[in-house]
Amino acid sequence: MTSFSRLIYWLCIALISVTTCAILLSGWWIGQRYSEAVAEQQINRADYFLQGFLESEQALHTTAVKGVITDFGFRRTVADGDPDTIASMLDNHAQRVGLDLLLITDRDGQFLSSYGSLIDDDSDGRVYQLLKDTPDRPHLIALQNGFYWLYLSSIKAPHIVGYAIAGTAVDIDKLNHIQSLTGVDLSIYSNMMGYALNTSPQVARFIENGEHDTLVPSPWERQRFISRQININDLPRGDIKLYMTADLSDFHRQFDRFSINMLIVTFLLVTLITIASLLVSRRMVMPFENLQKKLLHRASFDHLTGIHNRLTVSELCQRSLAESQRAEKPFFIALLDLDHFKAVNDSHGHTAGDMVLSEVAQRLKSSLRNYDVLGRYGGEEFIIAGQLSANDCRHNLLRIKDVISGELFSYKDKRIDMTLSIGACFIDFADFSGEVTLQRLIEWADQALYKAKSEGRDRVVIHHCQSAGMQMETLD
Ligand code: GH3
Ligand code: MG
Ligand code: MG
Repeated sequence: MTSFSRLIYWLCIALISVTTCAILLSGWWIGQRYSEAVAEQQINRADYFLQGFLESEQALHTTAVKGVITDFGFRRTVADGDPDTIASMLDNHAQRVGLDLLLITDRDGQFLSSYGSLIDDDSDGRVYQLLKDTPDRPHLIALQNGFYWLYLSSIKAPHIVGYAIAGTAVDIDKLNHIQSLTGVDLSIYSNMMGYALNTSPQVARFIENGEHDTLVPSPWERQRFISRQININDLPRGDIKLYMTADLSDFHRQFDRFSINMLIVTFLLVTLITIASLLVSRRMVMPFENLQKKLLHRASFDHLTGIHNRLTVSELCQRSLAESQRAEKPFFIALLDLDHFKAVNDSHGHTAGDMVLSEVAQRLKSSLRNYDVLGRYGGEEFIIAGQLSANDCRHNLLRIKDVISGELFSYKDKRIDMTLSIGACFIDFADFSGEVTLQRLIEWADQALYKAKSEGRDRVVIHHCQSAGMQMETLD
């Protein structure tokens, strides 16, 4: 994989990761904001519904109470103040009009009689006291038996002779009914009476723990409930508190399912698009990569023999020399020149010459260790280099010469006899402390080759480079 392709892969992985994170974060953010908005809306609707519900109850009861207190006989009885007669008339009238509660006081607010088992006595006139300050306004009140929605009407005959306090019991059934219609839980608390009504025990715990006061939850924490305290007609003296609470767990569950589906779909889409663009870009880049490889190969290898060309082999020799110098090891470099090669061309043709050059390269390659350096240095000249002791160097160079000289080359049905001259330069960096360059060593090897040629060819001449001085050695 080229560095460009690698960059594209990493970019794609980064793109997928960033998209996934963005979806997760935005999902969380939208979830938070949207859940709050939904809950607020639900609570507002429930609040509106509750007010309407209470008002309609009040309207019904006002009509019903009017039916009782405008009855002439009843007004007379209240004016007389006889509790037994009032009680018997009251039961009749209240049952007839279907009231939950009807309490009759005298004009000073003293208890006379009541209908409904929920209040059987109000001798201290507490209810009357609560209502008389704002007689036109209904009140939500906690009595000993529960919560009541109460209001006060005066009984006139024609002057005020007493008061009727009519009420609707606000019991758990009513709250459950509102809850089932609005989806919002209701909780009513009375501090004075010390009791409460709740449509959900979980929500009750949430409110009792005071968690509804937590205005802002910690950033990663999900708000399970959203709660608001509702005021109905200015509830008196803060005794009764009414909360409406929206349970968000259902919303979160649905939203999570939606988010996961969104995440999966987006992830698949992004992955699909990424893979598709990778494939397309690969198809576009591939020809250039192949061309690059081809050009690199052409620039590094010899076209005819397939071994390293002069430029590359010079670099490899330089590297091998530097390595030997650093490790203080023996090093040799040898120039190999085919003898009378021109004659091969002349007598067998250039194609035969090419074939011989190619086979020479193959024979050299297979007789060298794969970490030795080998390359074509010129027309019919090759170069080898490596790390060998002096003796091994002698032995190996003779062996290499025999690989070429010892076996005939065949071209079509012809046999071609070929010999090889080798001029080498050997230097042991363990003993040698002077400065040498590759150029210098090649020159010394070239001098050795010249000697090999001039002494009759088909031989190896080694130029030993020592601190004491230079020394030529001929092997044949
Ligand atoms: P010597 O023993 O002195 O080295 O004699 P020589 O004939 O080998 O040397 P010379 O330098 O006179 O000739 C080298 C010849 O190699 C000349 C050239 O035609 C031939 N030659 C160089 N490169 C190629 C090649 O790629 N293909 C072929 N067929 N011949 C080549
Ligand atoms: Mg030559
Ligand atoms: Mg030659």
